[in-house]
Amino acid sequence: MRYIRTNEISAEMDGKEVKIGGWLQESRNLGGISFGIIRDRYGTVQVTVRKKESPDLAKIIGEANRESVLIVTGRVSKSDKTPRGFEIIPNSIVIDSSAQSPLPLGVVDRVSAELDTRLNNRFIDLRKENVERIFEVKSEMLFATRSYLRSIGFIEVQTPKIAAVGAEGGATLFKLDYFGKTAYLAQSPQLYKQNLMGAGFDKVFEIAPAFRAEASDTVRHLAEFTSLDVEMSFIESSEDVMDVAQGITFESMKHLAEKCKPLLEKCGIEIELPKLPFRRISYSEAIELANSEGAKIRSGEDLGTEGEKALGTAVKSNWNEELYFITDFPTELKKATFYAMRKDDNPELTTYFDLDFRGQEIVSGGQREHRLDKLLAQMKENNLDPERFGFYIEAFKYGMPPHGGFGYGVERFVQKLLDLTNIREAILYPRDRLRLMP
Ligand code: ATP
Ligand code: MG
Repeated sequence: MRYIRTNEISAEMDGKEVKIGGWLQESRNLGGISFGIIRDRYGTVQVTVRKKESPDLAKIIGEANRESVLIVTGRVSKSDKTPRGFEIIPNSIVIDSSAQSPLPLGVVDRVSAELDTRLNNRFIDLRKENVERIFEVKSEMLFATRSYLRSIGFIEVQTPKIAAVGAEGGATLFKLDYFGKTAYLAQSPQLYKQNLMGAGFDKVFEIAPAFRAEASDTVRHLAEFTSLDVEMSFIESSEDVMDVAQGITFESMKHLAEKCKPLLEKCGIEIELPKLPFRRISYSEAIELANSEGAKIRSGEDLGTEGEKALGTAVKSNWNEELYFITDFPTELKKATFYAMRKDDNPELTTYFDLDFRGQEIVSGGQREHRLDKLLAQMKENNLDPERFGFYIEAFKYGMPPHGGFGYGVERFVQKLLDLTNIREAILYPRDRLRLMP
């Protein structure tokens, strides 16, 4: 007999024989009856045993440890005493895999454990409905993103994660031994996705891990995160790129709001679709707005975490909006981003933007410098040796179209959308300065 999932059973199936497998969430003895609550990814069902009729089965249910995997075959029986309107009257119960006791972490405990304890026992933590559904939301977001990008002509690519050079500055590079040579884990697919523009792949995206040796312990940095990268050619300006970042965000939220109602109900959140187009705030305006909420940022200084938060508060109170672009980043702040295009009519400013969601950056991007002489000059400012960037620079010598793109932090989006305090909750097995297991 084939297994059936708990959500496929209903009171209308009264009398039908079914086979279910799941974890024993709890069991109870009430005088003449014993019952167990069996849980799978979709929910729970109650298995009820009348001791007189089936003393052996009552014994199994009574003795099985919580969280053991049970396989139950039995008859669906209508009942007005259970939350779902039916129960299973078993004719067989097998403890297929017994759970030890005590559990390292409770699954249905009311008090929530420390994040560290939860992460140390992640496989049990993930059994909790409110934890598991975070990953359903993430999966739906990526599904919507892929559909949207494919619908506007993008192809999905994969670029190497072991690389000879980094693109985002030396401080956050993970070094490794590559057959006796030094290699690094890719901080982003930057160099490769630009290389693909030279190859004529005019619209590409990649959803893959990016690695950054972030030494500071914050609630928004991981050492390994999921980067959604977009790169596109023959753009008029960074506005074309911003449209795509906005599109991904809007379409993901729309998909969740319209196609995933039960999931959102389970998450206890409501998604209000953002107004289009997202507000554009220049970097200098952003500082004024942040300062209006008590931040003390001088003109040209980095907004920083606190500035971003204050800006989020200001945008919310002025316009009741939560998603907004910060544009015209000063060249001074983007110097290390050697591939960023500066404005031809005002080289003090770049074409770079961030997309912020409720006071936190989730996307950075802009138009890239595709003119070889300017690119080389910007590398020189950073003391970077173009020779080391071999394949990257070569592509600019043989026909490189105007192009731009962005890096979109998938966990940052999920974190903000679901209002999670710590980004570690938005990734199955977080990596940070202290954590390499599980
Ligand atoms: P921040 O200033 O917040 O540290 P960044 O500007 O260094 O981020 P970018 O190089 O712009 O990051 O990367 C593009 C996007 O990737 C960011 O907007 C963010 O969403 C995501 N991202 C970058 N670093 C991390 C990280 N360590 N953990 C999680 N997401 C990250
Ligand atoms: Mg950034």
